[in-house]
Amino acid sequence: MKITFVTSNEHKAREAAGILLGLAEIELVSLDIPELRADNVQDVAAGKAAYAYSVLQRPVITDDTGLFISALNGFPGTCAAYVQNTIGNSGVLTLLAGYANRSAYFETGIAYHDEDCQKTFSGRINGKIVLPRGCSGFGYDPIFEVDGKTLAEMSEAEKNRISHRAIGFHALRNWLCEK
Ligand code: IMP
Repeated sequence: MKITFVTSNEHKAREAAGILLGLAEIELVSLDIPELRADNVQDVAAGKAAYAYSVLQRPVITDDTGLFISALNGFPGTCAAYVQNTIGNSGVLTLLAGYANRSAYFETGIAYHDEDCQKTFSGRINGKIVLPRGCSGFGYDPIFEVDGKTLAEMSEAEKNRISHRAIGFHALRNWLCEK
């Protein structure tokens, strides 16, 4: 089975290919997708997948990740990319100044779309927002701590064992096995 993962992020690509190894051959395509606004990462991923399938006409996977910070009532949520590109990690830390509650979670929505069906999956990881530590990974990794370590202090393999995206991709893998 050959599936096109629409992403330009090499970290995600390695993570997905590793999890789907032996089941599906993953081809990467970077495509400019108009992103629809929704509060839910699965809906955003589904919108991207429908668009990608309409352009590519072959089985596709898309994903979308949100960061939900409790003290900020879930902000930035599905606007995580916009917030990362505008105020960045330092801006998020400034917004949280004075808040004792640092809990947050990442959620990834993954959508698979082919000629017969569309199916969505999700994965979540709980953690807390801390001052930046570590230099691996990407995005919010340096300020997101899980069990005493930020995601940027973990090796890629270590992060991929516990990550929100890994949980979502394992759910996709289980479903593909039975499809
Ligand atoms: P996207 O939906 O993958 O574009 O992710 C939304 C935002 O969250 C982007 O700014 C990403 O850099 C960031 N992001 C996505 N996944 C992760 C992750 O595993 N760690 C840290 N940041 C992430």
